[in-house]
Amino acid sequence: MKRLLLLGGVTEALAIARTLGPQHIYSLAGVGRVPTDLNCQVRVGGYGGAEGLAQFITDHGIDLLLDATHPYAAQISQNAATAAQHSGIPCWALRRPAWQAQAGDDWREISDWAELVKALKPFKRPLFTLGREPLQHLDEIPPEQFWTLRALEVYPGNERCEVIGSRGPFFIEDERTLFERRQIDVLISKNSGSSATEPKLEVARERGVPVLILKRPVLPGVEREFETVAQVLAALANRRDL
Ligand code: NAP
Repeated sequence: MKRLLLLGGVTEALAIARTLGPQHIYSLAGVGRVPTDLNCQVRVGGYGGAEGLAQFITDHGIDLLLDATHPYAAQISQNAATAAQHSGIPCWALRRPAWQAQAGDDWREISDWAELVKALKPFKRPLFTLGREPLQHLDEIPPEQFWTLRALEVYPGNERCEVIGSRGPFFIEDERTLFERRQIDVLISKNSGSSATEPKLEVARERGVPVLILKRPVLPGVEREFETVAQVLAALANRRDL
């Protein structure tokens, strides 16, 4: 039976998974919620690198690999491209376009944590929306700064950092309240390209708050790239063997 292995972990991947029949497999790393209402199979956990993934592809008769992971999940995307090549099957990818700065934006691109720390020096009340990485640096917060850190779950902060646990989508009014209440003077963000997390950028623009944007990782070349779920579904519908 012809089979698709869909690597997911973001909203668009789940939307594709909802359209798949029982022979197909939706694969999750296991860091977020695992859906229980899908017709397709759901597999949770890593494969043990590109080699393990290639073995899984062979063992389970996978015909097409679809990488619909987050644009900053560079390791699994690299593994997917390598494993598909070794297994002789095509790899397709859903890659969200990056957000583009607009008139009134003050975006400053940063490559890593060291650059971020330097870029943060003039500011006092940053809002981090980068995931959990800043938690490793709570002991390094300068005395003049107070951090607000938004992550998927609540984690312990300290006297210089409050952690908010919250999952998108986020709405403009709530983002305005967050920036106002906490007097945010700089926003730190990945360039995820997701509409679910975009309102914070609008509020930064309204308030003249600079945004430190973490550069996107370089992702491997694949057979076909798509920007939207609709494009992926159309291409899958054209593959009559699936
Ligand atoms: P990563 O650094 O690229 O991947 C780390 C390892 O996690 C991979 O080598 C793989 O383990 C396993 N893995 C990742 N995605 C998987 C999947 N869909 N199915 C099975 N195993 C998977 O990824 P990450 O940045 O830690 O992100 C982990 C997951 O969260 C991804 O699926 C991503 O789509 C989702 N996510 C990430 C972000 C982000 O900002 N990075 C944001 C939202 C959602 P093995 O090598 O053992 O196979």
